[in-house]
Amino acid sequence: MYDYDLLVVGSANADLVIGVERRPAAGETVLGSDLAVHPGGKGANQAVAAARLGARTALLARIGDDAYGRLLLDSQRAAGVDTVGVLVGGAPTGIALITVDPSGDNSIVVSPGANGRLTPEDVRAAAGLFHASRVVSAQLEIPLETVVEVVRSLAPGSRFVLNPSPPRPLPAEVLAACDPLIVNEHEAKVILGAVDGGSAVGDRPEDWARVLLAKGPKSVVVTLGSQGALVASAEGVERVAAVRVDAVDTTGAGDSFTAALAWKLGAGSSLAEAAAYAARVGAVAVTRRGAQESFPTAAEVEGR
Ligand code: ATP
Repeated sequence: MYDYDLLVVGSANADLVIGVERRPAAGETVLGSDLAVHPGGKGANQAVAAARLGARTALLARIGDDAYGRLLLDSQRAAGVDTVGVLVGGAPTGIALITVDPSGDNSIVVSPGANGRLTPEDVRAAAGLFHASRVVSAQLEIPLETVVEVVRSLAPGSRFVLNPSPPRPLPAEVLAACDPLIVNEHEAKVILGAVDGGSAVGDRPEDWARVLLAKGPKSVVVTLGSQGALVASAEGVERVAAVRVDAVDTTGAGDSFTAALAWKLGAGSSLAEAAAYAARVGAVAVTRRGAQESFPTAAEVEGR
């Protein structure tokens, strides 16, 4: 019997957002709106998304001993996430400085801060959490060597889900553990090494899924925004339809999709069933503004 449906290992950031008429050029100063501060980071987002759906969720992350760290802890606890694995200190809390203009285009500077100090040793010290968790999910906003240690720390019988964002080439050991590897179009292309060459695997997501699968993961999911998703495993490639909605803000769609998929897989759903549920969760999230604020409860997903 597991204590947690999902252990998320990943980043926690404070997103500092200022609206501007025009994003500044080099050397320029512009005046903007009042500052808005939102809890974010892919790890923190996934944990909140899962907990809000009702998953018993724990987060393994590192924050600074500062006000933004406390904001992140508060938002995790408010969503019902167990923060026993949230480590404090070593560097300031990770920050994303975001300017957004009226057309919605933004410029973002990320200071990884404490996220960059989440070490393989921190993972080893959290062995108890790994043994208590049915599914473990990770992203790449923490050091890659830490993700490698996550894979080595998985308890027998537990399942590993990876969203390789921001994307970079992955060691075979990490790829082989993924069940599934979850990528959007951009991440698929980077991992396939096709970003500059462009045409190495063509334009068909089905082909990306097959080629990615051949690189070692037990299964692959390609998310396609308003087009839904694809799931691929030894049993073949299957399309998952998107739910039709009027999207107002897609921030966090991928994080809520990944969290929902990981939770449903742990509860015994097939990959296609879990992805169909995750697509409903992502669809609700894009109808609302923000990231964590937009994630639905299970009751809100019903009927979608
Ligand atoms: P982000 O980086 O914005 O969080 P992403 O690029 O990682 O997102 P997407 O493919 O955009 O991930 O979205 C994840 C899933 O959410 C999609 O597979 C889809 O099921 C759902 N989704 C996203 N956008 C829409 C939309 N406009 N309408 C319906 N469903 C959507």
